[in-house]
Order: sequence, then C-alpha cells, then structure tokens
Amino acid sequence: MRIMLIGAPGAGKGTQAKILEKSYNAVQIATGDILRKATEAGTELGLKAKSFMDLGHLVTDDLMIKLIREKFTQPGFSQSWIMDGFPRTVAQAEAFGELLDELNLKLDCVIEVDVERPLLIERITGRRVCRNCQAPYHIKFNPPKVENTCDYCGGHDIYQRDDDSEEVVTNRLKVYDLQTSPLIEYYKLKNLLHKLDGNLPVEEVTTKIVNLVNEAR
Ligand code: AMP
Repeated sequence: MRIMLIGAPGAGKGTQAKILEKSYNAVQIATGDILRKATEAGTELGLKAKSFMDLGHLVTDDLMIKLIREKFTQPGFSQSWIMDGFPRTVAQAEAFGELLDELNLKLDCVIEVDVERPLLIERITGRRVCRNCQAPYHIKFNPPKVENTCDYCGGHDIYQRDDDSEEVVTNRLKVYDLQTSPLIEYYKLKNLLHKLDGNLPVEEVTTKIVNLVNEAR
C-alpha cells in the first residue's frame, strides 16, 4: 500500500492511518508527529519547527522536503506507507513526486477526506493524543477504553496539543484552504485523486479507503 491522505486538520487522517497501518503492515508517515517528537526532544529540527507549529503556520518546504527525503532514503525503509500530513503544499508534492521517481516507486492513490467545517472544529478542539505513541482520541467521540490510558501502548499521558486550541485552529484551517487545498486539483490532474465523505463514522471511512486502495492497486 502506498497512499496519501489529504484533508483539513481534524478530517481523521491520523485515525485512519493508524488503523490501516496495523491491518496492512504499512507505516504511517505523519510529519506532524515527527515534528512534535523532534520538538519534545529539543533537536535542531524541533527548535526550528516549534515557532511555526505554535501559530498554526506551515514549517518551511525546505525543512519538510529534507526530512522526507532522509526518511525515504534510509536503508531498509518500508516500501509500504500511508502519507499523513505530507505533502502540504504544491512545492512539497512536486519534490515528493521527484523523490518517488528516483526511487522507482509509484503512488497507488491520493484520498481526499472531506469533512464539514463545524465537525472539524468539534473534532480538533476535543482531540487528545497519547504523548508516547501519538494515538489520537476524542473526549466525546473516541475516549480511551480506560481513562487516561492509551489503548495502543498503555501510556498514561494523554494530552491536548497546544495547536488544537480554538484560536490556533482557525489559523490552521485558513492555512489548509490557502496552501494545502490546491493539492486536490494537482492530484486530480494526475488522475490519482479520490474523494470520500469523512463525516461518516470511523469504520465506514476505513471500509471506503480499503475499497479504494484495492481498486487502485
Ligand atoms: P499535524 O499534526 O499534521 O496537524 O501537523 C501539525 C503542525 O506541524 C502543522 O500545523 C505544521 O505547523 C506542521 N507540519 C506538519 N506537516 C507539515 C508539512 N508537510 N509541511 C509544513 N508543516 C507541517
């Protein structure tokens, strides 16, 4: 499986990627998670990224492209992946296309997960994340089975991301509209785009993604 999920913050990309990762033996490449880990570890990348992330702006294309290139060219890197949060600009998409050509890899399909604005805001502001494995939860729609205990890794630190506050969310949605949504047209022109209704319950969205991937391969 080599797919890309595109959608506004809160569309459910991370939730779906985590489910698919398990059943398809694929790796989730969530650039937001990578950056948050780098920020917590205080690495050079993390320090550079933090100021952009706190305001809901995108980290620069140069940094992001370098990060993805390094990941994909590591010896033994998985041939099966789910892109979640990269690319986020047309420049990133172009660089990613070049990288895949160089590595002789083909993208199976790009899936746009479309969700209505009010639901996006409710999902983001109620979102909680496991600090250890980044598994996503929601205070109302998807709380952990045992309070403050991650269903996946058993960690006990389930927190709210700083950029999931209402003020930052408004900016992140603007950034999505301006900088990321042009990718929809970009991949449509390449005949790779499929759109699905992300307002549906999680399991239904998963089934639709699986059907699309099976058709595309
Ligand atoms: P996410 O977890 O995908 O919502 O990403 C959180 C934040 O990380 C974003 O608001 C950006 O600041 C940054 N980020 C993640 N992926 C990218 C990317 N591909 N390009 C630029 N910034 C990114």
